[in-house]
This record gives sequence, C-alpha cells and structure tokens, in this order.
Amino acid sequence: MTMVPLPAGNPPPLPDLRGRFAPSPTGNLHFGSLVAALGSWLRARSQNSRWIVRIEDIDMARAVSGADHAILETLAAFGLESDEPVLWQSQRLDRYQSAFDALKASGAIYPCHCKRSDLAAFNGIHPSSCVKRNAEGRPAWRVRTSSDSIEFIDRVYGRVAQRLDREVGDFVVRRADGAFTYQLAVVVDDADQGITEIVRGADLLDSTPRQIHLQRLLDLPTPCYLHLPLALDSSGRKLSKQDRARPVDASDPVPALQAVLVFLGQKVVSTAQVNDLLWHAVRQFDAGSIPDHRHAHAAMQKD
Ligand SMILES: [Zn+2]
Repeated sequence: MTMVPLPAGNPPPLPDLRGRFAPSPTGNLHFGSLVAALGSWLRARSQNSRWIVRIEDIDMARAVSGADHAILETLAAFGLESDEPVLWQSQRLDRYQSAFDALKASGAIYPCHCKRSDLAAFNGIHPSSCVKRNAEGRPAWRVRTSSDSIEFIDRVYGRVAQRLDREVGDFVVRRADGAFTYQLAVVVDDADQGITEIVRGADLLDSTPRQIHLQRLLDLPTPCYLHLPLALDSSGRKLSKQDRARPVDASDPVPALQAVLVFLGQKVVSTAQVNDLLWHAVRQFDAGSIPDHRHAHAAMQKD
C-alpha cells in the first residue's frame, strides 16, 4: 500500500454528510474506540451532519453478551447519541444474503476449499485460482480481485493505492460455516444507511480498498474516507492490548474526552461539563490538525 500526502490548499468539496460510528460489541468502550466515536461525531457535527451508531455484531463468536448496550450507555454518558435508531448487523442477514446472491449471479465470487495451510506457500494471499482442487465439505466464497490499482483519497493519510491481487489476494465474503464476513456486511450497511463519509481508526485503512472493490461490484456509491490515527502510548508505540482494552470511565467522562481531543490534535477548553466541552470542540474542530502518525502506522503494518 502506498500513501502520498495531499498538497495543502483547498480540500475537495464535501457532499451532504452522513457519518457513523460502528463498534464491535467485544467489550466495553476503551480509549481507542472513544477516539473513533468522538472523531466521527465531531466530524459530522462540525458540518451539521447526521451521526449514526451501528453495532457490528456480524462475528457472533466474538460478541460479548450485553456489551452492545454497555457501549450505548457509555456513549450516552459521553454526550454521544445516535441521530437515528441504532442498527444491529445480526438483524440484517437477509440484506447480506441479497448482496451475496448478486455477487454470485454476476460471477464475481467462487467457491473455495483452500485451507490457511494451503496458502502458506503464497504468503497467505489467495491466487486467482484455487490451490486445493478437491472439494470436501462446505466451501468458503471468495471474490475475484484484479490487477487494477484501487485508489482513494483519505483526508488524513492522503492518496492511498493498493493492488488487491498482489497485496491481499482473492478474499472471503462468506466463510465455510456460512457466516458473511465483515467486509461484505460493512459495505452493504454503509450503502443502506446512505453514509457519505466514513471516519474510523487507521487499523481499517488497509481494508478500504477491499470495500471499494465490493462497492464497485455491487454498483454502490463509494463514500469519502477519513482514518484516525491509532492510539499510541507516550513513546509513540501502539498501545498494548491491555491498555487498549482498558475501559474508559463513564462516571467521569470529561478527562477522557479531553485526552481524546489532545490525541486528535484539537483544542481543549477547561470545563467540568460534557456538553460545554463538546460544544467548544465542535466549533473548533479542525480535521487538518489530526496527526497521521504515519511512521507508527507503517511500523504496525509490518507486525
Ligand atoms: Zn481457494
């Protein structure tokens, strides 16, 4: 993946914005997810746009019972509430099935019995035809990638380009156990909800070309993208799993919100009131001040 910074000056014009925050209910809201929540909320609010919360519980094996409602309660304590009814991915399997059927009808996907071990000789990158020829059990379904470079403009990371065939390979949209994958679900959800700009953590930067590929195959619009830096510790290293997983304190939201604002390069006012803090943060929000932590991101990609 290559990233080229955008020149200073006039940013491209924005359409009417609908933003979203889409947490996975795998635990309580932690610092890294509060960065994505507040960053997406500020971006939407600063442009007088809607902000919608979606619970990404498509991977039911990872979902923790009750975590969805705990996240929504914590967001409310932080002054962040969805402008529309919250959507749960687990209630939308019929929509993912429709998209899957459309991909199948157009020949964009094919059944695959390759195991992870079969792909080891290919660095885990599935080539354009299956390694394993004999069909046993239910197949996974993979989408064909091409040699075209997929490019998009990220408002923090600049011009991003990726060759899916070389860097990712044909990827799974439905697993052998029948579950639809995140990549398919998120593309369908963003389109159904009319999301015009996706603001989320940079850990999803390298998923974006896969999602754009699916948007094109499904004839769906491609939204704008703004990826937020990943939460780092004071020495610039990626936060440890333990630190990232530490829940934020919903009973004392102001210090956590201030810490996120500092992390996002934004001005912070001194106040004890959540609404006061957020009001000033919206008025002063500057997407151009968000740091990209490019070196840390590059280091993380090599992990
Ligand atoms: Zn295969």
